[in-house]
Amino acid sequence: MRPRTALAFALGLVLLITGCGEPGKTPPKVTAQPSASATSPPPPPSPKPQPSHTTPKPKPKLRPLPKKLPAGLHRRTGNPGVALTFDDGPDPRYTPQILAQLRAAHVTATFCLVGKQAKHYPHLVAQIVREGHQLCNHSWRHDVDLGRRPAAEIRADLERTNRVIHEAAPNAPITWFRQPGGRWTAEEIAVARQLGLRPLHWSVDPQDWNHPSAKAIIQRVTSATGHGSVVLMHDAGGDRTQTMAACRRLIPDLKRRYGISRLR
Ligand SMILES: [Zn+2]
Repeated sequence: MRPRTALAFALGLVLLITGCGEPGKTPPKVTAQPSASATSPPPPPSPKPQPSHTTPKPKPKLRPLPKKLPAGLHRRTGNPGVALTFDDGPDPRYTPQILAQLRAAHVTATFCLVGKQAKHYPHLVAQIVREGHQLCNHSWRHDVDLGRRPAAEIRADLERTNRVIHEAAPNAPITWFRQPGGRWTAEEIAVARQLGLRPLHWSVDPQDWNHPSAKAIIQRVTSATGHGSVVLMHDAGGDRTQTMAACRRLIPDLKRRYGISRLR
């Protein structure tokens, strides 16, 4: 072989071995799959893995939702006044806005707090309490299926949420629990009661979570509200600009027509 041919051959061999990746980058390493034995081929995948101590236990099946709302939910104030409830917070953008509106109108509301949010914004939990509003536990992570889970899981979720609220506002009474999405079960109501939490539902839902205009929120609340209504709105969980705008009209209006009542 002539020297030039030998050089070209050697270069070709190097390229063949290292590949032609980007300069300075090593080609991706192929990691070997671990196998029981290097000499025997891996067993064919079985369609149904046999349970063993390494297989995670299957999650317990969710209990079915009842066809209609279980008994015992609080849906009315029990007096001529209307109660305002704000869900899914605290939120750093909207909770201060709604607090300012309530303060200006000299009324109080009930805040249904999500545990994870309370953990992130303890100063807002403290402010809610300091300004005289009521607290409602709204589960740790807004689990819409919480009521369908085993009682022990429900209990742990509610206790964890209460704990983080109390870290932010020690000794503040947490009177209520509201199941996310209103997907209640009788079993969940029983657990909430064992923890001293009363089950809070609502009677007016303008579906503000679905981003209607402020005008639509005002119209829906106004047409559905009467004496004793419990109104559900949201100060967190997404863009609540329209809810905030609606409340600037609704809060003074409802106060004038019915009075704003504390839940009891
Ligand atoms: Zn919610």
